[in-house]
Amino acid sequence: MAYDFDLFVIGAGSGGVRAARFAAGFGARVAVAESRYLGGTCVNVGCVPKKLLVYGAHYSDDFEQAKGFGWSVGEARFDWPTLIANKDREIHRLNEIYRNLLVNSGVTLIEGHAKLRDPHQVEIDGQTYSAEHILIATGGWPQVPEFPGSEYAITSQEAFFLKQLPKRIVVVGGGYIAVEFASIFNGLGAEVTQLYRGELFLRGFDGAVRTHLQQELTKRGIDLQFNSDIERIDKQDDGSLQLSLKDGRQLIADSVFYATGRRPMLDNLGLENTRVKLDKAGYIEVDERYQSSEPSILAIGDVIGGVQLTPVALAEGMAVARRLFKPEQYRPVDYTHIPTAVFSLPNIGTVGLTEEDARKAGHEVQIFESRFRPMKLSLTDNQERTLMKLVVDVKTDKVLGCHMVGPEAGEIIQGLAIALKAGATKQIFDETIGVHPTAAEEFVTLRTPVAS
Ligand code: FAD
Ligand code: NDP
Repeated sequence: MAYDFDLFVIGAGSGGVRAARFAAGFGARVAVAESRYLGGTCVNVGCVPKKLLVYGAHYSDDFEQAKGFGWSVGEARFDWPTLIANKDREIHRLNEIYRNLLVNSGVTLIEGHAKLRDPHQVEIDGQTYSAEHILIATGGWPQVPEFPGSEYAITSQEAFFLKQLPKRIVVVGGGYIAVEFASIFNGLGAEVTQLYRGELFLRGFDGAVRTHLQQELTKRGIDLQFNSDIERIDKQDDGSLQLSLKDGRQLIADSVFYATGRRPMLDNLGLENTRVKLDKAGYIEVDERYQSSEPSILAIGDVIGGVQLTPVALAEGMAVARRLFKPEQYRPVDYTHIPTAVFSLPNIGTVGLTEEDARKAGHEVQIFESRFRPMKLSLTDNQERTLMKLVVDVKTDKVLGCHMVGPEAGEIIQGLAIALKAGATKQIFDETIGVHPTAAEEFVTLRTPVAS
């Protein structure tokens, strides 16, 4: 049967754009449908605007620290609408870049909501298109638990477009987004309380990293309340929100920001017209080639519920394009040693195993750790401390994990990820000459293991 396209991609986000562009570059006839915003979550309501707000939030530190270096900058004032308007302009510029990237690589861009009609057909605004392969790359959406008053909660979808910066914000959750936004709101001058339902936030990160960040965020004035959760939210006559916690306490806030995880975006996608199966958590189930239980339909990125990071979606998109249209270049995605950063202030940067996971996996480990006050702060009153930690396998001397909390941890960890991927041993770290004076050089000068 002759199809309109070789590949029809649903969703022009990180994974979808990458797959579409490369498939077209390999000579395939490709269409991509996008219902909301070109570039997807990362460009519009994720990584990019988030990082811009983090840069904005960091200026409060910069102004404060500048005094120690002889600068007097007068009274610093912050204007949220200016930051948001400038951010929107930049995102609009990126949207147009994505449009040009797609069109210039020969991809047919169709703007509208795509619904599967059958295993080879997609309908958009009443028009049906057929394709040999269909790639679902529809991403995710914030998930807020249902409770009385949950309609008053905002999520990252709304936070990027608030008209004003709320004075008092309660952030709920203990993952990436909650921690990052608590730092953003705090840095920009809001009064921030962060509620997390468990003992200690950032479950899955190295224990030392979690407690170190807890201490640093507390020093900055974020009110961290663990073992805390909201039972109901009531709107007061003055417009503020009254939060009743499960332990009976009450809090008052101007805004409640929920970052309690994300669900796959499958709304009105028409999966019922296919044999695509979902896994227990509701994500699209795929095999190692990203093929769903319907052979003509593939899925990548956040919608398959793996590692929900842009570079991972990009790698999966690339793998699909290569496997289908340039098989001689196909290499499966290697999910080991994925570095990641949490852009809190200070940042977390991490790659490889945590100490806890290394021990659980049966490694006998040595731990090397350094905690210090960064040189940049030596002329200031700021008492922030940086943490660097290496997890080393005693038997093989291999470095199993690198963890950092401190300025530019995201930048520093990228290079270390290459070393870990290459199988670097602690000896190789030790033989590497440092760059002086930097914080990063600590990673190659850690000589004495921490007593276990
Ligand atoms: P998406 O980028 O979400 O793209 C899916 C696209 O599909 C969307 O544009 C959507 O509109 C479209 N779509 C959905 N349904 C349909 C339909 N039926 N028809 C047509 N189009 C449809 N990752 C990092 O690596 N670093 C970070 O710093 C980072 N920060 C983040 C901050 C926030 C606040 C959030 C929410 C996420 C962040 N992420 C970050 C995660 C990252 O954004 C995602 O992992 C990544 O965007 C996933 O890419 P994707 O291609 O799977 O989906
Ligand atoms: P996460 O899965 O990282 O964290 C969700 C948090 O919400 C956890 O602390 C979880 O607690 C808590 N939670 C879940 N359900 C409830 C509930 N019903 N009530 C109260 N608390 C609840 O999700 P995020 O939304 O923060 O981020 C989604 C993903 O996006 C991340 O996992 C990451 O992959 C990606 N991302 C990456 C970023 C980066 O690279 N810098 C930045 C932002 C997002 P518990 O631990 O107890 O389950």
